Amino acid sequence: MAAGSAIQIPTRLPLLLTHESVLLPGSTMRTSVDSPRNMQLVRSRLLKGTSLRSTIIGVIPNTSDPTSDCDDLPNLHRIGTAALAVQVVGSNWPKPHYTLLVTGLCRFQILQLLKEKPYPVAEVQQLDRLEQFTNGHKSEEELGELSEQFYKYAVQLVEMLDMSVPAVAKLRRLLDNLPREALPDILTSIIRTTNQEKLQILDAVRLEERFKMTIPLLVRQIEGLKLLQKTRKSKQDDDKRVVAIRPNRRITHGSITEDEEEEEDHDDVVMLEKKIRTSSMSEQALKVCLKEIKRLKKMPQSMPEYALTRNYLELMVELPWNKNTKDRLEIRAARIVLDNDHYAMEKLKKRVLEYLAVRQLKNNLKGPILCFVGPPGVGKTSVGRSIAKTLGREFHRIALGGVCDQSDIRGHRRTYVGSMPGRIINGLKTVGVNNPVFLLDEVDKLAKSLQGDPAAALLEVLDPEQNHSFTDHYLNVAFDLSQVLFIATANTTATIPPALLDRMEVIQVPGYTQEEKIEIAHRHLIPKQLELHGLTPQQIQIPQVTTLGIITRYTREAGVRALDRKLGAICRAVAVKVAEGQHKEAKPDRAEVGEGEDCKEHITEDAKPESISDTADLSLPPEMPILIDFHALKDILGPPMYDMEVSERLSQPGVAIGLAWTPLGGEIMFVEASRMDGDGQLTLTGQLGDVMKESAHLAISWLRSNAKRYRLTNASGSFDLLDNTDIHLHFPAGAVTKDGPSAGVTIVTCLASLFSGRLVCSDVAMTGEITLRGLVLPVGGIKDKVLAAHRAGLKRVIIPQRNEKDLEEIAAHVRQDLTFVLAAGLDEVLNAAFDGGFAAKAGLEHFNSKL
Ligand code: ADP
Repeated sequence: MAAGSAIQIPTRLPLLLTHESVLLPGSTMRTSVDSPRNMQLVRSRLLKGTSLRSTIIGVIPNTSDPTSDCDDLPNLHRIGTAALAVQVVGSNWPKPHYTLLVTGLCRFQILQLLKEKPYPVAEVQQLDRLEQFTNGHKSEEELGELSEQFYKYAVQLVEMLDMSVPAVAKLRRLLDNLPREALPDILTSIIRTTNQEKLQILDAVRLEERFKMTIPLLVRQIEGLKLLQKTRKSKQDDDKRVVAIRPNRRITHGSITEDEEEEEDHDDVVMLEKKIRTSSMSEQALKVCLKEIKRLKKMPQSMPEYALTRNYLELMVELPWNKNTKDRLEIRAARIVLDNDHYAMEKLKKRVLEYLAVRQLKNNLKGPILCFVGPPGVGKTSVGRSIAKTLGREFHRIALGGVCDQSDIRGHRRTYVGSMPGRIINGLKTVGVNNPVFLLDEVDKLAKSLQGDPAAALLEVLDPEQNHSFTDHYLNVAFDLSQVLFIATANTTATIPPALLDRMEVIQVPGYTQEEKIEIAHRHLIPKQLELHGLTPQQIQIPQVTTLGIITRYTREAGVRALDRKLGAICRAVAVKVAEGQHKEAKPDRAEVGEGEDCKEHITEDAKPESISDTADLSLPPEMPILIDFHALKDILGPPMYDMEVSERLSQPGVAIGLAWTPLGGEIMFVEASRMDGDGQLTLTGQLGDVMKESAHLAISWLRSNAKRYRLTNASGSFDLLDNTDIHLHFPAGAVTKDGPSAGVTIVTCLASLFSGRLVCSDVAMTGEITLRGLVLPVGGIKDKVLAAHRAGLKRVIIPQRNEKDLEEIAAHVRQDLTFVLAAGLDEVLNAAFDGGFAAKAGLEHFNSKL
């Protein structure tokens, strides 16, 4: 920063016109250049010039309106500052422009404009140097006094600033080192002044004038600073930095709401911390939470992690670390609750009571997890609910069907976006106690996927040795699950992973007989549906024979869920009638019901009181209940869905009825066979598993080896059954996968019928595994299978002899309705399956098979 006196500027200067600011000698300014004239100047003068002189330009403040941008050169301000271009930076974004760094050297005055294009060049006269010469006639004293005064104000101003800032300290030193006449220009460009004021200082060529004009500006700045400091002091302590930042924030944001919010949030965090400290979480959890809250306090709220951490801490506080309900375990009461809630299921209730009794005596719940296995709608879930009720515990159902991600059980780590705890921890949060009854519904429908095996995660949850320190990935601290009573349900044990099955005690819940279903309907389902629909027993009557009709003609299931739905549909229809008051208009009619009766949906109402209008007062019970008979059933539920089609389908040889067990209960299954010309192929359809395919081969081999004995021939009369013959066996329903050995006897019977041309009795169903030597081996699921045969109205059931013991499980009335044939070998099966027996011809037993 040289003083003007030492500088000799060229007499011809290119002129740079600046809009935004006024450059004063001794100061440095960065200015953006984008007008064509200025750009041209930079290009042809600054970028091409080689000497120091070529980097000296004249900077003239452009006082004309910047928006009126025209080609003509505006009226030029007469005085400008000669400047040294220190740096040129070019850029093309957002439009081509240069940024110039220029340092003011001295004032000049335009004498004459030499050229206007492409950029203005003028003949100039250096002013500041002249000053020195004109200085002489001014009284030295006057100027000395002025400059002294100026110097004092300048020092006062600088000392009001924070001396610890290096630039301020440097400025303080400069005040002493620089020639006094350079000070007005330099300080004017430092303090807060408008462009207009700077322009006036630029125009003040005479030094005396310049001092006089800048002193008031200095004083104004000093006063402003004093005021600012005063207000800061009253508000804040002496921490200057904080003082400097805070009010600024307020000003920039225009309002103080943000601060208030911040404080509010801070209060929330404090509250949260208090909650954490007063909660009864484990020591380990407390440690983690306190660490997290410390981090939270330091985190700006705008950070995504802030919300994450906060949610985490809120969950930790909410979890029932030490909250529990008091067990009121009383076996006698438990028995009553179970009996009241559920009809039949004796075996299940007995086992549940044993389980609870042991818990009562041992006073802890460690032990195998109960797993109820049975078809849908047999009351597995509702027994679980009753258990919770008897214990006075909270109940929570966790549906596991289709869960294929182990994070569903064990939670996501908190590093993931959208991470959350697993279903177990979520369940605990929902129930709010640490000893609920958790029903793990459908454990057999857990799936495996790339996201890990949820069954493996469940192992840890269910293992009483491990679950006292179950660690959810989201919580990342152990939670004690040992007080939770887990009960699992499944339709079949076949698809439960063995390791999981090993930790559970399986209790089979078989399907119901028709009689049981009728009882369940009348004791539980109908009252429940009536209540749900706001009906009273005085308004609707469903006789047992109607219920049986619904069970046999509108449902085909092992449980009672569809029955429940149908009853619901009936109640809805009746509710409409009752609401409309239509039943009061019904004609006097008969009230008995019976199959095949053509009675209208009716209500007998001979003596309808005249006073009651048609728009009936619904609070009054109708005089007579609406009776649901078969006609009404048809109206409400539509035509029957299932027919007794058994006899029709057995009208040809090559069809036999087998009994199958499925996860949905027992079912009857028609096995069909046909033969055609061919080369001895066996075709099997109906989505069969390997075991079933093997059974079919076994059956054919046995029949071929015994063909002569039973006089079985193929179409051409040969005893070699596969000679020029293809056989096709089909097992409906084709869409359902079937497997298991129990269809063996049925296939044999079906093929025997095909090759003998005789019809299988239409009221016989059978089940049993076969061996190559014609033995009949025991199979599982006898109760369900027998019930299915009973449901289908069959009369005779052929079962393996060694399954005789299973018949004890079957209700007496079902046993009475059926005839059981206990078969040890295939001879007995065939004898029972065909009317008049299936006599073997003695002496031909040892026919040699081709196979
Ligand atoms: P699941 O869990 O076995 O599929 P649910 O427990 O959901 O079946 O039972 C379906 C409905 O049947 C429930 O409303 C339940 O109350 C009722 N139910 C099933 N079995 C019985 C029973 N033995 N006594 C009374 N109601 C029963």
